[in-house]
Amino acid sequence: MGLIQFKDTELNRDKSRDCFVFDQRVSVKHGLEVGDYDMCHACRMPVSQDEVKDERFAVGVSCPHCHDTTDPQQRARFEERQRQMELAKKRNETHIAADVGAAKAAKRAEKEAQRERSRRER
Ligand SMILES: [Zn+2]
Repeated sequence: MGLIQFKDTELNRDKSRDCFVFDQRVSVKHGLEVGDYDMCHACRMPVSQDEVKDERFAVGVSCPHCHDTTDPQQRARFEERQRQMELAKKRNETHIAADVGAAKAAKRAEKEAQRERSRRER
C-alpha cells in the first residue's frame, strides 16, 4: 500500500508531532478500508472474501445474504449512503496529502534556516 510505504521510508525518520498525527490518521483510514469489506453494511452480516467476489455483493448495498430482502427503495438509500462514504474517504485522502506537503515544506524551511545560521557563523 503506497501511503504506508511512504510513511515508513520518508516520515518515520522525523518523529515530530505533525508526523505523529499523520501516522494516526493512516491507521484509522486503513482500519476503515479493511472494515468496508468484512461486513455487509446493509444487513450487518459478516462477509467472507469469496462472498465479496459474488456478483450479488455490492459494497454498502447488498451481499449474498440480503440481496433478496432489500427492496428498490432501500437499495437506493444504501447506494446513496455508500456514495457519501466514498466522498468522505476521498476528502480524507486529500487532507493526508496536504499534511505530507506541509511536513515537507516545514522540513525545507528548517534546513534553509540552518544553512542561514551556519553562513552567518562563518
Ligand atoms: Zn447483506
